[in-house]
Amino acid sequence: MSRDPVADLRRIAFLLERANEATYRVRAFRSAATTLAALPAGELAERARTGKLTELTGVGDVTARCVVESLAGEEPVYLRRLAATEGTDLDAAATDLRTALRGDCHTHSDWSDGGSPIEEMALAAVELGHEYLVLTDHSPRLKVARGLTADRLRRQLDHVAQLNDALPEGFRVLTGIEVDILADGSLDQDDDLLARLDVVVGSVHSGLNDDRAKMTRRMLTAVANPHLDVLGHCTGRMVSSRPAGVRGPGDRAHRPRTRPESDFDADAVFAACAEHGKAVEINSRPERQDPPKRLIRRALEAGCVFAVNTDAHAPGQLDWQRFGCERAARCGVPADRVVNTRSADELVAWARSHDTA
Ligand SMILES: [Zn+2]
Ligand SMILES: [Zn+2]
Repeated sequence: MSRDPVADLRRIAFLLERANEATYRVRAFRSAATTLAALPAGELAERARTGKLTELTGVGDVTARCVVESLAGEEPVYLRRLAATEGTDLDAAATDLRTALRGDCHTHSDWSDGGSPIEEMALAAVELGHEYLVLTDHSPRLKVARGLTADRLRRQLDHVAQLNDALPEGFRVLTGIEVDILADGSLDQDDDLLARLDVVVGSVHSGLNDDRAKMTRRMLTAVANPHLDVLGHCTGRMVSSRPAGVRGPGDRAHRPRTRPESDFDADAVFAACAEHGKAVEINSRPERQDPPKRLIRRALEAGCVFAVNTDAHAPGQLDWQRFGCERAARCGVPADRVVNTRSADELVAWARSHDTA
């Protein structure tokens, strides 16, 4: 039995709007629905059959695929992903997820480009009710961010061990790194050190304009590396230059610096993450909001686990996790798919399991 494709497109527009998606995306579905609703009887099915839907103004590949699926009597995949959150109170779901988080897996100190000592980051995390904070300063090649050489990282590990003795009972700084994913997909730190760390976040910071094939290979190589546990801010996009609501004086020096998403085969990369049990980061920074929600939904569908991280460079930014939780909730990510809802011991055991795989 066939469905009503126009009704499905309108439903998608409604659900996108409810999930607070970009207006242009909502409009695309709604205007396609209007165009298709105006067609003479029979023309819609005929065009779907002959692949001529996209010749119509405002009907793109995505909407055309929805129409074809709908006419075949199936709920369009796009609609299915969105409908997963239907009937849930998204604000309550976001609050619940934030409450379920027990730590943060991506944070920086003044050892690299953060603004505060590790101690201060740790104390702020204790205040927030966290049980752990994974310290993930940058790796050597990221010189602009004072990436840690192998020697400095070894010193940091000694420092963290001492610090943990002095921190309140029930809280731990876990060791980690945000390691650069290099051009060939290898990781920018010594293997023996990566093996010692509790949690390894791997991110692309250079060559963000690599072509699709190269970027995909690069990310697949990194995800398959047994040391990598979390794939950091996977698209590298920048949606604004500063946190929402924060206004700089003037403001020439603070001109927005946006960056488009890197081009890669997201389905292949997420399938690899699911296969190797690696987490896809939901980066909470307001200027990143990475990955975009449509990709979070695809990672969810691929069976991935996630880490909702702040990528905090200062103590106050540790509270930004709620932004990531809002995005995760809007995509229907359940708490049991988020690795930092686990205890410190469980998280470390999960990360260890990759090194021995
Ligand atoms: Zn990064
Ligand atoms: Zn970072």
